[in-house]
Amino acid sequence: MLKVTGLETYYGTSQALFGMTFDVEAGEVVTLMGRNGMGKTTTVNSIIGIVPPTSGSIEFAGQEVSKLASFKTANLGIGLVPEGRQVFPNLSVRENLVATASNHQKLDDPWTIEKVYAMFPELELRATSMGNLLSGGEQQMLAIGRALMTNPRLLVLDEATEGLAPLIREKIWAALADIRKSGLSILLVDKNLKDLLKLADRHFIVEKGQVVWSGNSAQLSKAEDIQHRYLGV
Ligand code: ATP
Repeated sequence: MLKVTGLETYYGTSQALFGMTFDVEAGEVVTLMGRNGMGKTTTVNSIIGIVPPTSGSIEFAGQEVSKLASFKTANLGIGLVPEGRQVFPNLSVRENLVATASNHQKLDDPWTIEKVYAMFPELELRATSMGNLLSGGEQQMLAIGRALMTNPRLLVLDEATEGLAPLIREKIWAALADIRKSGLSILLVDKNLKDLLKLADRHFIVEKGQVVWSGNSAQLSKAEDIQHRYLGV
């Protein structure tokens, strides 16, 4: 589904990614983990074209996307739930959801506003509220719903549970577990190791702009030295 190879990305003259390499298979949940400032968000933003890489390749569903504009990559089926949610503050919940709705992949059973409301009933209750009046948890649900409304083949979530109360975090994890059952591929950047071990198939640990360890959940739960060295657990 997604194959990232040898990505190098710069901010001006400052290099942030040093040969980032990982992949996500169809139907898989994969994580990028690592301490702050190691290059996870830069990786996500390079994939979607917000911070284009200077070299390396990003193959999505068999197509090279590293030189494409963000909207073109999005239209190919990558749905981004960005760090900090970034819901449209002056649009209502309903408007946020319909603003990006599309079905470019012509999926047979696409996401609809009703399905998003069924997953997050909180959003239906706030359907006419403006984005900036929502709680952090509601904004996060809205950001996920908005990405689903683009009917992606790969959902990318950058710090989707950051700063949320434990109960809300549980709801987000439960929703992601449901979403994965629908067969969608998911790339998760997050810090909650315990939850990620349960939800994800494989993990890539990022240190200074490159992958320093990869393995499945069983391997990572046993690798206490790796957890300690790279995740500070
Ligand atoms: P966090 O969990 O804190 O978001 P991260 O692993 O996602 O961390 P990045 O945000 O990708 O890390 O940062 C990687 C490196 O790039 C860091 O050294 C950071 O200071 C730098 N960086 C990130 N954004 C910018 C920017 N807009 N301009 C210049 N340097 C940046």
